[in-house]
Amino acid sequence: MNIKEWTDVTMTISPEMMVYKNLEVKKPIIINRANFGTHSHYESSITMDLHTGTHIDMPLHMIESGEDSDVFEIEAVNGNCFVIDLTGIQDKQIEKHHLLAYKDQIKAGEIVVLKTVNSLTDIFDFEYVFLAESGAQFLFECGVKCVGIDALGIERSQPEHPTHKILLGNHVYIIEGIALKNIKEGHYEMLCLPIKVSKVEGLPARVLLKAL
Ligand SMILES: [Zn+2]
Repeated sequence: MNIKEWTDVTMTISPEMMVYKNLEVKKPIIINRANFGTHSHYESSITMDLHTGTHIDMPLHMIESGEDSDVFEIEAVNGNCFVIDLTGIQDKQIEKHHLLAYKDQIKAGEIVVLKTVNSLTDIFDFEYVFLAESGAQFLFECGVKCVGIDALGIERSQPEHPTHKILLGNHVYIIEGIALKNIKEGHYEMLCLPIKVSKVEGLPARVLLKAL
């Protein structure tokens, strides 16, 4: 494997990074616990919400008694991936009709990634583009195993969280916060390596794409 053929589409974790709704609780806290002024080594710790930056949602995130990270299998977020460029749509929500034109390219058992204008800014937009219920239902019916998006939440303004529930309730994993600014529409291979934490509902991940 030649790592130079891959594009890193992971958000960089830092205290200054963009976080969901600019909430303080979502901002990573990095504390230096030892340095060369006080010790003979340098060491830091980090405190971070599991849904900060690029991360995977587990069913437990939105479904009571849903599966947690111990059930998650890494195959679910790795493999062939189709990036759909929706930066040109005027609407703030991605509905089924926005995706229908791509039906023949959306393959069962693969990953779909939605690129929107969210990728073009580093400032949190409270009106970010999201996947609406009809779009989630359509992607589930296409048989995809994972849906990725460049928003820090795959939905908003839907009180009962139908987008999360349709996907997570049917073993379709969700990757949020993918940085797609430099990625063109097309077919890729996705490498997604989450950190390995037991019994949680979200896993921060490193995500890379390679054009096929
Ligand atoms: Zn999340």
